[in-house]
Amino acid sequence: MNFRVNSQTNNRQVRYAVAQGRVSSEDQRRKGVSLDAQRHNIEKWSTDNNVVILKESYFDHSAYRGLDEEQEFLDLIEFAKNDRRVSLFLVDEKSRFARSRYTRIVYEEELRRAGVKIHAVSEPNYDTKTVHGVWMDGISITKNEAMSIEIAYHTRKGMKENVSQRDQETGYCYKNGGPPAYGYKHVRVTRGKDRRGKDLVKLIWDIDEERGGIVRQIVIDYWLRKKWSWKMIRDWLNGQSIPSPRGGLWGISTIREICIRALEGEYTGTAFWNRTGKDMRGGGQKWKDPEEWIVVEDAHPVIISPEELQELKAERGPEMEKRKGTNGTGVPKNMNSRWLLSGLNAMGEPFFRCLNGDDHSFVGNQVHEYLFYICNKYKNYGPAGCDKPLWIKKEFEKDVVNAIIERFTDERIRELVEQVNGQLAIDQNDFSEARKHIEKEMDKNDRETKTLMEAIKSAGAKGKIILLGELESLAEQKDALVAQMGELSKERPQIKPLFESDIKNKIKSIEKIMESGTNKDKRDIIRVFIHSIEMDPGTETAHINFFADPFPTKIKTGNLKDLPVRIFDGGDTQI
Ligand SMILES: [Zn+2]
Repeated sequence: MNFRVNSQTNNRQVRYAVAQGRVSSEDQRRKGVSLDAQRHNIEKWSTDNNVVILKESYFDHSAYRGLDEEQEFLDLIEFAKNDRRVSLFLVDEKSRFARSRYTRIVYEEELRRAGVKIHAVSEPNYDTKTVHGVWMDGISITKNEAMSIEIAYHTRKGMKENVSQRDQETGYCYKNGGPPAYGYKHVRVTRGKDRRGKDLVKLIWDIDEERGGIVRQIVIDYWLRKKWSWKMIRDWLNGQSIPSPRGGLWGISTIREICIRALEGEYTGTAFWNRTGKDMRGGGQKWKDPEEWIVVEDAHPVIISPEELQELKAERGPEMEKRKGTNGTGVPKNMNSRWLLSGLNAMGEPFFRCLNGDDHSFVGNQVHEYLFYICNKYKNYGPAGCDKPLWIKKEFEKDVVNAIIERFTDERIRELVEQVNGQLAIDQNDFSEARKHIEKEMDKNDRETKTLMEAIKSAGAKGKIILLGELESLAEQKDALVAQMGELSKERPQIKPLFESDIKNKIKSIEKIMESGTNKDKRDIIRVFIHSIEMDPGTETAHINFFADPFPTKIKTGNLKDLPVRIFDGGDTQI
C-alpha cells in the first residue's frame, strides 16, 4: 500500500503547471535573463516534458520592493494552490521565483503543502524536502567555513608561540610532537620544575647516528655526487639490507621524500610546522599554502652542512622544480594572491566581474608603485577587449571588507537569527506533527491487529480465511508506517539553531584576519560572505552580491577618492 504520490512518475503523463518570469533592475546588466529568454526556456521545457501551463505571469520587478506586495506573484501562488490539477510552479531559475531566499522558503513551503513543486527549468532542482535546508545550508556553510578559518588561524598562532621557545642548553627549538624526520630521534629533556614541583619535560631532536649516516649517503654521496637515480639508490639500500624508516624494503617515494626534505633544508636545521592538514572542505590530507607554513631555522642539529645544501640546491634543485611543474604545494598560485578580489568565488565562478559586454573578470595589475585592478579583457586586448575600462585602486578591497562589517549591524544580526530560528521551529514542528500522526496510526494498527487475532481464535474455518486476509493487509500497513517513520527521521532537520554570538564572532574574526591573516585567509573570509562583485562601467557602480542574505536593503560604503567608482548598492542576493 502506497499512499504517497510517487514523484518519479512517467514523464509521458500530462502534468499541469503555472509559470513565472521575473526581471529586476540589476538584471538589465546581464545577458540571457530577459523575460523573453525565461519564457523561451520554460516553454521549451514544458513541451519536452509534457507539461501544460494553465496560468503564467511575466513581470518586471523593480528592485527592493518586497515580493509579497507583488500582486501578480500572489495571484499566481493562489491559483497554483487552488487549482487541483497544478503540480508544478515553473521558473527559469530558482532565483526568479522570489527575490529573497526567505520569501522563497515561505512560499515554497505553502506550495509544497498544496502539492505544488517549484521547478527551475534551467538549473538542477533540489529536493523540496530540503528546500529550506538549501537556505540553511548557506548559513551553516558560512558559519562552518568561517569557524575553520578561525581555528586554523589560532592553531597556527599557538604553534608559532611554542616553537619560538628555544632550549637554554642546546639552543634548539622545542618540538610540537609528531615523528622526527628520518635521521633524527626524539630526546626528552627535563628543564626545571613546574609550580607543582613536577619535572618540565620538553621534546627536542637529536641526530640518530646510524640513520643520520644513511641520510648523508643517500643525499650527498649518491644523489648529489654520484648523480644516482632514486631507483639506483633504492636498489643499493635494499641490497645492503638496510631497513627502511618503517622497516622492510625501501621504496622510491621514501627516498624522494628524504631528498626533498634535504633540499628544503630540514637536514640543515630548518624546522617546518603546519605544512599539511585536512582540507577545510572535507577532502584528504593536503599541503597547505606556503604562507601558512611555520619555518624556523637552527631548530635542530645539522646532518647536511649549509655549504652542502647550497651545492645540492644548485645541482639538484632546478631538476626538482621542473619535475613538480607547479609551485610544489598543489595549491593554485592565485589562492594566496595578494590580490584579494581576483580569481574565483566559493562556487568556482569569477568573483570580481566587469559587466561591460560579455562577463569577464578583474585582475590585479601593478605599474610602478601603483596597484590597481583592471578588467582582464582590457589588460589583454586593450580597448578592443573592453571599451569602458575601470581602474580600481587596490584599496577598494578595504571598502569591500567594510561593506561586510557594516552589513551585519546588531539589529540585522538579531533579525537574521530570528528569521532562521523561526523557520527552524516551524520545520521542527512540522516534523513532530508528522511523527505524531504516524505514531497514532501505528497505535491504531496495533489495536486492530489485537482485535483481529482475538476474532480469529473464535472464528470458524471459513471466517478464518477472510480474517487472515485482513490480518495480512494490517501487517502490510504496519510495514508502510514503519517505512514512513524511517523516511521521516531522515528528513529531520539537522541544523542547529543560530546564535547572535556566532555571527558576531564571525564578524570579529574578519577584522582579526584582515589585520594579520595570510592572503589566503583574507581571500577566503571575503568569499564566505560575498558571492561576487559586479562592476558596472556604465553607472560606475560596484554591486556587491552577498550570500544568504534576507535583507533587501542598500548599504552606503562611501565614495572612492581618485576613482571613477562608487559603491552603494549592497543589497543583491544572487545565488
Ligand atoms: Zn571590462
